[in-house]
Amino acid sequence: MVVLWKNNVSVAFTYVYIYIYMIQIYIYIYIYRVLNFADLRVKRMDDRFIMKVYRKETHTNTYINWCSNVPRSVITGAMKTLIFRAYELCTLREDREAELDFLKDTFIANDCPVKVVDRVFGKYIPHKYKPNQAESELKPQNDYENVLNLPFVRGFSEKIKRELRKEGITVVFGKGKTLESSLCKLKQKIPKDQTKNNIYLKQCTSCNFKYIGESGQTLKQRDIGHKSDINTRKSRSGLYKHIRDNEGHEIDFQNQKILDREPNMFKRKIKEALYIKAYDNGTLMNPDKGTPVNDCWNEFTIDIRKSIKN
Ligand SMILES: [Zn+2]
Repeated sequence: MVVLWKNNVSVAFTYVYIYIYMIQIYIYIYIYRVLNFADLRVKRMDDRFIMKVYRKETHTNTYINWCSNVPRSVITGAMKTLIFRAYELCTLREDREAELDFLKDTFIANDCPVKVVDRVFGKYIPHKYKPNQAESELKPQNDYENVLNLPFVRGFSEKIKRELRKEGITVVFGKGKTLESSLCKLKQKIPKDQTKNNIYLKQCTSCNFKYIGESGQTLKQRDIGHKSDINTRKSRSGLYKHIRDNEGHEIDFQNQKILDREPNMFKRKIKEALYIKAYDNGTLMNPDKGTPVNDCWNEFTIDIRKSIKN
């Protein structure tokens, strides 16, 4: 210890703490015969171990308040979870009953109505602790095939949940739109010409002809390519051909519209083809119809047209 002290004071202190901690454990195990671990207290008797729920002295006994903006089922669910813990951890019946009484008082102190606390604590017994539980009495498990996620609105959402349960639909509550999500936009907005993976629409400044394209590059980078095609008079460029055939017409590079975004290149090309198909009324500058797509997609043409107008 002296050598350690000379070499490194903090290491020496660490050893002192470990030594004191080991003495404490020794006292608890061999003198008091008790060991606390997480929420479990284990006591060693002469012939067996006895367990019960353990709370640190610093535990605040604060659970979800009855007035919190959460479904009531979440609060009664918290009660059932703690009842289950009392059954699981307490070896002796008197310890379990003392723990359940303590929990009842605690939930009432957290503003839960006495009649609700009495109902839950009076009725709920975990399945595995029910005496003579017949197989046929076990509740069937939800298969979660029909699940609807709705934002939670107190009173209203719980009624909908009850009604839809009769129709075999399980409702789970999501957060919905919150004040935080409305006010805190921490992600910096990227300027339009710096965005990637777009399906975009350009227009002529003089007529109603349009061009639909796609690119994994930023709009700015792609426009450099389009402008280069026009300047070098590339005959396969739809934009160049429109300017060549219509004197005085220009492409509006400033006010282009982003129709869609898709990071996957193959999906992006399919989407581009679908937009071209939906827009193809004889006023497109595109030299071709993009990647070939099956006619079954025609079903969505009307919806895509509507989305373009919006
Ligand atoms: Zn034009």
